[in-house]
Amino acid sequence: MNPANADLHCHSTTSDGLLAPAALVERALANGVDLLALTDHDEIGGIDEAAAAAQAQGLRFVTGVEISVSWGDDQTVHIVGLNLDHRHPELVAGLARVRSGRDSRAGLMAEELAKVGIDGAYEGALKYVGNPALISRSHFARYIVERGFAPDVKTVFDYWLAKGKPGYVSHSWAELPEAVDWIRTAGGIAVIAHPCRYRLTPAERRELYRAFKDCGGEGIEVVSGSSNEAEIREIAGIAREFGFLASRASDFHGPGESYIDLGRMVQLPADLKPVWADWQ
Ligand code: AMP
Ligand code: MN
Ligand code: MN
Ligand code: MN
Repeated sequence: MNPANADLHCHSTTSDGLLAPAALVERALANGVDLLALTDHDEIGGIDEAAAAAQAQGLRFVTGVEISVSWGDDQTVHIVGLNLDHRHPELVAGLARVRSGRDSRAGLMAEELAKVGIDGAYEGALKYVGNPALISRSHFARYIVERGFAPDVKTVFDYWLAKGKPGYVSHSWAELPEAVDWIRTAGGIAVIAHPCRYRLTPAERRELYRAFKDCGGEGIEVVSGSSNEAEIREIAGIAREFGFLASRASDFHGPGESYIDLGRMVQLPADLKPVWADWQ
């Protein structure tokens, strides 16, 4: 496969995106994307709708998912799985387990937020959730903006929802090897999502790449929606050093809420092997 404009990471209303899967496909086409993956958090429920819309509109589409993983000392990292059998029972069961703690975590988050004067956050966040099992910090952020406590979701994260802030509740997600296993068992390629967004020291970062590689991880997002030039150079170097396939990914969540729109990222450095190189 040799797409001119691949975008292999975005979110629909099935997780914390603002557009339904079919609307996302339409927007991708309008933006000139010619290969799209839908990668909702811990859930594959939007894929059939997206795949049908993509087929009807003539857009190449691959299946995907973004799995929440606990790493090291209470860090969360995200592993994207691409081009997999989204009905594979092991993947489906694994994702169900990862989702299962979200509701109780949301209750705890709401209690913490109430203590700092933001009441009704659980019910408020739920209004923004398509699928209650997928209640996430993004939905809380939208409610807090609605209440006028902050001008936008980014500010909400800075003040209330990022690690160390009052509404942050730590949580056990999947382990790295099991997430990579579910993806590989389902026939897919595991990719480290937005590697520059984790608050890790350089040594911890390398430990993550090494552990990921050791358990069968194959790819990394060299170009992510939030990457700047220096970050792209850094991660391209990591891809060369560790022999990772390179992915290109907007991480689009919705108009007005994302770093970049679908398909609007720079191209991958030409010497890297893209994740899609061997796809039919
Ligand atoms: P959760 O899976 O519930 O922990 O929520 C994580 C989601 O919150 C991510 O997938 C992003 O969509 C969003 N998010 C995390 N950090 C930020 C941030 N600093 N600004 C805006 N959105 C963020
Ligand atoms: Mn998200
Ligand atoms: Mn992510
Ligand atoms: Mn994402």
